[in-house]
Amino acid sequence: MIKSFFENHNIEYREKASLKNYNTYKIDATCNYIVFPKNEEELIIILKELKKYKEKYLFLGNGSNVIFSKSHYDGIIIKLDNFNTIEYDNTLVHVGAGYSLIKLAMETIERGLSGLEFAAGIPGCVGASTAMNAGAYNSDMASVVKSVKVLTPNFDIKTLENDELEFAYRDSFLKRNNNYVVLSTTFKLSLGDTETMKKQIAERRTKRFISQPLNMPSAGSVFRNPDNMYAGELIEKLNLKGYRIGDAEISEKHANFIINVGNATGNDIIELIKKIKKEVKSKYNIELILEQIIIE
Ligand SMILES: Cc1cc2nc3c(=O)[nH]c(=O)nc-3n(C[C@H](O)[C@H](O)[C@H](O)COP(=O)(O)OP(=O)(O)OC[C@H]3O[C@@H](n4cnc5c(N)ncnc54)[C@H](O)[C@@H]3O)c2cc1C
Repeated sequence: MIKSFFENHNIEYREKASLKNYNTYKIDATCNYIVFPKNEEELIIILKELKKYKEKYLFLGNGSNVIFSKSHYDGIIIKLDNFNTIEYDNTLVHVGAGYSLIKLAMETIERGLSGLEFAAGIPGCVGASTAMNAGAYNSDMASVVKSVKVLTPNFDIKTLENDELEFAYRDSFLKRNNNYVVLSTTFKLSLGDTETMKKQIAERRTKRFISQPLNMPSAGSVFRNPDNMYAGELIEKLNLKGYRIGDAEISEKHANFIINVGNATGNDIIELIKKIKKEVKSKYNIELILEQIIIE
């Protein structure tokens, strides 16, 4: 039924698609369909149809903060890759949800616009990263987002200003209300010196390569840092570096990273997360909070 709907409306889709190349853990899961809406009108048509037939669906950016818990996601993945416009208006930049955050950071730096230097190593898309309030080096999306164009659960298109987005540490109104879809984000940047910014991000990149397992599939930091502590240090002190469940391993390089050393399943990763949480709780009485999102 849904397939003929996609066909009849000339919607780009893939059937029984592998998600391996759509999540940075490289979990080899499948889904019923992946769809790539061309524009906002098509997205609304698709969502109305999915809601009518109570189909399960998930918006996926670059899949760099998700864990597919099962070998098959019994639903439809919606990718906003075609929402990739960018428009400059002095220090304002309007960017589509599917735009790469790293690409955006590099481009704005090149144009002498400052504010997104923190994002030069975050492999997400603009839409998801806005909702997640991605951040690093004491900065985050909240500090540069002016407003966000969203699709509401009633299919209205609205602009929400920064102070309406309830940004907090790796959190926002949009993350807590995932029936709101980010369509595009407007950034307010400031003028900066390109060479200084390039030097700063190159230094940070070198440090990241030394301290993080960036050559292996992962989804970045697994846990939030508890107040005044580093989750990685707590895990390292428990001698858990290198500990494996299936092909999921606590990185030898950085204990707050889980890496896929072969064909790790979502379940391997989740069992490893449970093990870490249990050990940290029993040794330090600290409840680690997961930064990544488990997809059921
Ligand atoms: C090597 C590495 C380093 C990383 N470093 C950092 C870091 O320094 N700081 C940091 O914060 N994160 C970091 N991350 C994690 C990750 O890159 C960020 O959280 C990023 O913002 C996620 O973007 P994404 O497009 O991959 O989101 P996805 O993983 O695809 O999705 C995340 C969530 O957003 C939802 N979503 C997707 N699209 C939309 C949309 N258009 N509107 C609303 N919701 C949407 C999804 O349904 C999902 O719930 C790192 C990851 C890796 C692999």
